[in-house]
Amino acid sequence: MSAKLRIAIQKSGRLNDDSIRLLRECGIEINNGQQKLKAEAYNFPLEVFFLRDDDIPQYVEDGVADIGIVGENVLLEKGRKAKMIERLGFGKCRLSLAIPRNEKYKSVQDLNGKRIATSYPNLLKRYLKKQHITAEIHEISGSVEIAPGIGLADAICDLVSSGSTLLTNGLREVETVLQSEAVLVANHNLNNEQQRILERLIFRLHAVRKARHNKYILLNAPDKQLPEIISLIPGMKSPTILPLAQKGWSSVHSVIQEDEFWDIIERLKAAGAEGILVVPIEKMIL
Ligand code: ATP
Ligand code: ZN
Repeated sequence: MSAKLRIAIQKSGRLNDDSIRLLRECGIEINNGQQKLKAEAYNFPLEVFFLRDDDIPQYVEDGVADIGIVGENVLLEKGRKAKMIERLGFGKCRLSLAIPRNEKYKSVQDLNGKRIATSYPNLLKRYLKKQHITAEIHEISGSVEIAPGIGLADAICDLVSSGSTLLTNGLREVETVLQSEAVLVANHNLNNEQQRILERLIFRLHAVRKARHNKYILLNAPDKQLPEIISLIPGMKSPTILPLAQKGWSSVHSVIQEDEFWDIIERLKAAGAEGILVVPIEKMIL
């Protein structure tokens, strides 16, 4: 039997879709049938385990899975020994402290002596210690946001992305404990073959990420303007220049970064570029 890498991803929830999409963008197709515990990739030596996110750090530490995709918040809360390989750019959220909207709040000192409900007791404990705050931590496993309303706590420490859940529960965010996103983690003792498969996967992840941040650009330019235009869009090595059927004009092809996109377009127009096309790149290998 040839070697395989086992990856643990969330079975259902906020990270499930994006995890599967990322694998697909890396050219890895899996049959994600309902109620399945595991699936084999068709075209890559990968076996996928579908698990609760809370269990993923332990499975990876124990080597039941070789790698996993999980929120940093869960990874750090569980304190499991798994190697952080890559931030993945989705599942972004923050672990925040929030109090009833009408409560006065000046600084973190105001949390002294308060009862704080959370599903993240370890991260909260560490944060309070660092801030020299003594508070009572009430660990609850779900619906933390209702705790102040029912008199169970004075404040909460919970995950926030837009903040709308806090708002509907009459709470306001006062401190950020942790910024989090989905990360790729790996067991510390992969064998050589597993390590090689992981490297192939990382290579693809990088190609996908690079492509997301870059665009392919095509434009027409009068030949006498080419030096200036080339200096604006140097591309990966240098731009491709193709003569147009119309004499004195060329088509220029290159790659530009998303974040400098508008700035460059304006300068290209000013330099005499016409018929500018910008198209997404699917994969990018340098
Ligand atoms: P499971 O059934 O796997 O235990 P869960 O209910 O614990 O699922 P989800 O709510 O699906 O978990 O969230 C999974 C992860 O998504 C979180 O641990 C966090 O990293 C990330 N996330 C991003 N935005 C948010 C948010 N607004 N609220 C909660 N989690 C978020
Ligand atoms: Zn969970």
